[in-house]
Amino acid sequence: MQIAQNSVVAFHYTLTNDAGEVLDSSEGREPLTYLHGAGNIIPGLEKELEGRQSGDKLQVTVSPEEGYGETQPALVQEVPRDAFQGVENVEPGMQFQAQTQGGPLMVTVTNIEGDTVTVDGNHPLAGQKLNFDVEIAEVREASSEEIEHGHVHGEGGHQH
Ligand code: ZN
Repeated sequence: MQIAQNSVVAFHYTLTNDAGEVLDSSEGREPLTYLHGAGNIIPGLEKELEGRQSGDKLQVTVSPEEGYGETQPALVQEVPRDAFQGVENVEPGMQFQAQTQGGPLMVTVTNIEGDTVTVDGNHPLAGQKLNFDVEIAEVREASSEEIEHGHVHGEGGHQH
């Protein structure tokens, strides 16, 4: 069965950056499962999986525009340490949900100098070219309920 709109796809992947460093991988885990055509995964990867089938192996390079976006300098901000009320030790690498004009945004603490904390609201993979090694494990048709919900149910999906 070929991957098309409303296919449920399970695939293994290894994600590396241009330096060849492994950023993420499904190795040793269950494959990643998603509903094709529902925007569950980044556009650049979804597009390349179209028409493929179970057992296919492919390499996909995704540009930032079709991945997690370009790095936006405006999303890097300095805030006073006082803004982290109730957090005992603010450290680089910590993630917080910030309330912004555009809604909730996950930010990562990138630097602390004195009482000034730098937070970055860019996705950690923003601005990067992403190289995926993909092996498609399974393709099946989505149920009408999955299509209605816009995500996969059962193994590797939503349990509800
Ligand atoms: Zn659901």
